[in-house]
Amino acid sequence: MAEEYDICINGGGPIGSTLACLLAQSGMRILLLERHAFTTTLQPALDGRAYALAEGVRPLLEEAGIWAHLPAPPQPIQHIHVLDGQGRYPAVSPLSVTNGLTFTPDDAPENRHFGWMVEAPNLLASIGRTISHYETLDVRAPETGKFTFSPHHASIALTSGERVRAKLVIAADGRGSTLRQQVKIGLTRIPYHKHALVAVLAHEHPHDGAALENFLPQGPFARLPLPATTQHPHRSAIVWTDTAERIHHFSHLPDNAFARHVRHRLGQENLGTLTPIGKRWTYPLASQYAHRYIATRLLLIGDAAHGLHPVAGQGMNLGFRDVRTLSSLLKEAFLQGDDFGDTAFLEKYQRHTRPGNLLMLAGCDVMERLFSNQNLLLSASRRLGLKALQRMPHLRRYFVQKAMGL
Ligand SMILES: Cc1cc2nc3c(=O)[nH]c(=O)nc-3n(C[C@H](O)[C@H](O)[C@H](O)COP(=O)(O)OP(=O)(O)OC[C@H]3O[C@@H](n4cnc5c(N)ncnc54)[C@H](O)[C@@H]3O)c2cc1C
Repeated sequence: MAEEYDICINGGGPIGSTLACLLAQSGMRILLLERHAFTTTLQPALDGRAYALAEGVRPLLEEAGIWAHLPAPPQPIQHIHVLDGQGRYPAVSPLSVTNGLTFTPDDAPENRHFGWMVEAPNLLASIGRTISHYETLDVRAPETGKFTFSPHHASIALTSGERVRAKLVIAADGRGSTLRQQVKIGLTRIPYHKHALVAVLAHEHPHDGAALENFLPQGPFARLPLPATTQHPHRSAIVWTDTAERIHHFSHLPDNAFARHVRHRLGQENLGTLTPIGKRWTYPLASQYAHRYIATRLLLIGDAAHGLHPVAGQGMNLGFRDVRTLSSLLKEAFLQGDDFGDTAFLEKYQRHTRPGNLLMLAGCDVMERLFSNQNLLLSASRRLGLKALQRMPHLRRYFVQKAMGL
């Protein structure tokens, strides 16, 4: 007899792993398959990204047990400066801007932080430390499976030779999801013909928890505050978007020339001497969305379902929104003894997630296009919009609350 699981989650990235931990807490029998080995220590060579996670995501990671296992404390985001750079790299001080919009702690409800910066190696190590804690969570890594779907269950042949069954399979296997391709769910891809360069810089002066987003005609440039390390008391990550050719050029510059280009893009933000540390990473940029989130005994979640432009740092946050919705629907169905692999359940999940996700994807796409457009009328309207928002605290707080995922 093949071993029976309630759910098989394919892909142990941040989204699949968090969901697995949450579901295992309710006693469901979960099989988590990940093609790479998990790590419990900081491995900076794995991924250079630093994620801006919305404040609303913290309780979810706390509930999953992942927040408490982070090897290094995350950095709170306390101020956000948004600039319409227009190539002139305008002046900015750490706490106020003259040509844009500033969000201060007063804009956040109940004095909470806007969000948290968590570096990818920190999150991955924490996931590795957490997933071994749940009795009903069976983790296989490195491992992949061959899936066969029938109306009553899914069969999975593991590369180890073992055969297992599950009532439902969840594809959390990222943008290139093999499961999405196997069941022929269509995908629309919006290329930007741009790349993002991600790097970390040490600086002389503190960032005071302030993040900067400078919308330049070539693409957005973000500086995001990172927590101190024993070696570097003041650090920031940058996410720098430009054409593939220019990003290739910048990523190969010597440190001093690289730091000079970064300083221009920070305007007069006074961080003192900038010293690039570690590797420079590049990522091609595209948005994409799956035409359906569901198929027989299968559903898509996270980047397998939707991939966003990182302009507003919302990709993983949106995946965590899927996790919150799906885990509560699944726990309810499990308690009531319902079949959570049947069409009615799958359609319910799709109804609860897909429309809002498409709206967010479209919002990020419009933001990227609006701010990189140099049409005079558009740029004048943009500046007016930012100025108006700066003068309207109620509207500002409304936007903040939405972005914080509260
Ligand atoms: C430059 C950049 C900056 C970003 N910044 C932010 C940010 O600040 N905030 C934010 O919210 N988002 C950000 N994002 C988006 C974020 O990185 C993604 O949304 C997030 O990583 C998606 O998580 P996931 O778990 O769905 O997919 P992934 O992280 O891609 O994980 C998928 C997992 O599935 C595994 N897998 C794949 N295929 C198989 C298979 N066949 N069998 C078994 N396992 C498999 C992979 O090994 C991987 O571990 C950024 C993206 C980029 C490119």
